[in-house]
Amino acid sequence: MDMDKYDSVMELAKRRGYLWSSFEIYGGTAGFYDYGPLGAMLKRRVENIWRDIFVINEGYYEIEVPTIGIEDVFVASGHVGGFSDPLSECQKCHESFRADHLVEDVASNPDTLSSDELSDIIQDNNITCPDCGGKLGDVYEFNLMFSTKIGPGSKRIGYLRPETAQGMFVDFPRLLRFYREKLPFGVTQIGKAYRNEISPRQGVIRLREFTQAEAEIFVDPRDKTHPGFDSIRDHVINLYSDPAQSSGTEPIEMSLGEAVEQGIIAHQFLAYAIELTHQFLLRVGVSRQRMRFRQHMKDEMAHYAVDCWDAEILSDRFGWVEIVGIADRTDYDLNAHSTVSKTDLSVYMEYDEPKVIERIAVKPDMSTIGPVFKGKAKAVTQALKSLDAGDLTGDEVIIEVDGEQVTIPVDMYQVEQVRETIRGENIVPHVIEPSFGIDRTIYAILEHAYREEELKGEDEGRIVLGLKSEVAPVQAAVLPLLTREELMGPARGIESALKRKGVMVAYDDSGTIGRRYRRNDEIGTPYSITVDYDTLEDSTVTIRDRDSMKQVRSPIDTIADVVHDLVHGHIRFEDAGTPIE
Ligand code: AMP
Repeated sequence: MDMDKYDSVMELAKRRGYLWSSFEIYGGTAGFYDYGPLGAMLKRRVENIWRDIFVINEGYYEIEVPTIGIEDVFVASGHVGGFSDPLSECQKCHESFRADHLVEDVASNPDTLSSDELSDIIQDNNITCPDCGGKLGDVYEFNLMFSTKIGPGSKRIGYLRPETAQGMFVDFPRLLRFYREKLPFGVTQIGKAYRNEISPRQGVIRLREFTQAEAEIFVDPRDKTHPGFDSIRDHVINLYSDPAQSSGTEPIEMSLGEAVEQGIIAHQFLAYAIELTHQFLLRVGVSRQRMRFRQHMKDEMAHYAVDCWDAEILSDRFGWVEIVGIADRTDYDLNAHSTVSKTDLSVYMEYDEPKVIERIAVKPDMSTIGPVFKGKAKAVTQALKSLDAGDLTGDEVIIEVDGEQVTIPVDMYQVEQVRETIRGENIVPHVIEPSFGIDRTIYAILEHAYREEELKGEDEGRIVLGLKSEVAPVQAAVLPLLTREELMGPARGIESALKRKGVMVAYDDSGTIGRRYRRNDEIGTPYSITVDYDTLEDSTVTIRDRDSMKQVRSPIDTIADVVHDLVHGHIRFEDAGTPIE
């Protein structure tokens, strides 16, 4: 089989210590990957850029909650009842498949179909097992959560969380107090999520254990304008809107301000989240040309959501792949947790100006209620007070007291018009959620950075991982031209100086200098520093830029500062020294 780009990227990732199949010596298991030494470093850097944007700059503090959740949490969230994919099992080889994937070529909207509809399509179209050609069984819904038991011999069910979000909703009352009872505020979490995917065959795109970075931003539902929107209003983004809303299926290049004004993006808070996502993806090295923001179709969106956008990246083998989901989840989650936990999850919001209202109030007459209802008189009074004008037709009312219906004759209460000053109301916030898949982001970075180049006048080309220097695991290589003490000594000196500056440096003295450059090109090291015999004469070293392969000479005594500044983008390569022709 021909190697496509996915194969080339994964082959490099494996060979150079970015990504390894987990449990390899035991044969491996689909849906689990290890991050090797370089992969783990790349991932950490990507997560830290995410933190820089969401935690440091937006002020959405990060929390950390258990990855195991108790059953109530996922009953409330709807995951126990409905977090499933349709499964069909081959009757012959017993391999399982996603039924919606099996019918992709014959149905236009497979992920909206019921199990029965999918079963019918499989039968009618004679779709058979992709592995062995055997007959496929009836489709049923398979819940994707991994379950476990909490405590020895316990019957208490726990689940490995399928998303980090629920932990942040559950902590809402504490968070509200932390943020001094004011909206909007945001909270973030970066951590593992688990989904028992049916038959993952797409490497790190579909994992059973993966890392999410999620922000939950709690906003006042009456006002979804963002205080910082003016600063991003003119930013232009590649939008791919629901065809039902726009005129076609072509992406639209449009400023965020216009997109909100024209009602394409529902409101400023969502547009702002799209902008942050865009900034993040560009900064970590996703290609601008191979990224788009796609709006969910109405039938694709969760029933409670107002508007959803996916950041998608173009991959060679899988086409457009969702790597970030951005949604307005409304008050759905907080209401659900409020009901199941019987906890009030609303916020008391004061009005700017108190409101004076006139209303019909029911005034119970204690002198008649007391003797009749005795011990229950208080509850009756309460129930009467909470009635409103609409309940008061006829000459008696029926109220509920301790679960019993009680009839109250008209002589036990009076109805009067009252004026009241209302200073605020209790509101359940809406949630704006950008949800990032870090592993898919890492794959996008690797694929978009990967290139094969031919070299003029040389037989062999080179493979380059053109990583942004801010995410490159190894930031600088120090290479003595030869393994001679007089060159290795100064090279070791540069290595220590760089380490003291916090630069991740690799000292490498094995193989020809050409081979060492190639090795560093392949792992994405942005700068290589070479110590040679001229160094001993004029105290300068060569800095080589990975992408352009240009070289400059720079003084050895300031080299650590210069390389540190290069890596952090404070200076340009042309200004790092004197060019060598
Ligand atoms: P979702 O909650 O399904 O919208 O997922 C949010 C993000 O998590 C997605 O945009 C993906 O980037 C990521 N994600 C979801 N499922 C997986 C998976 N099985 N493997 C890797 N990443 C995933």
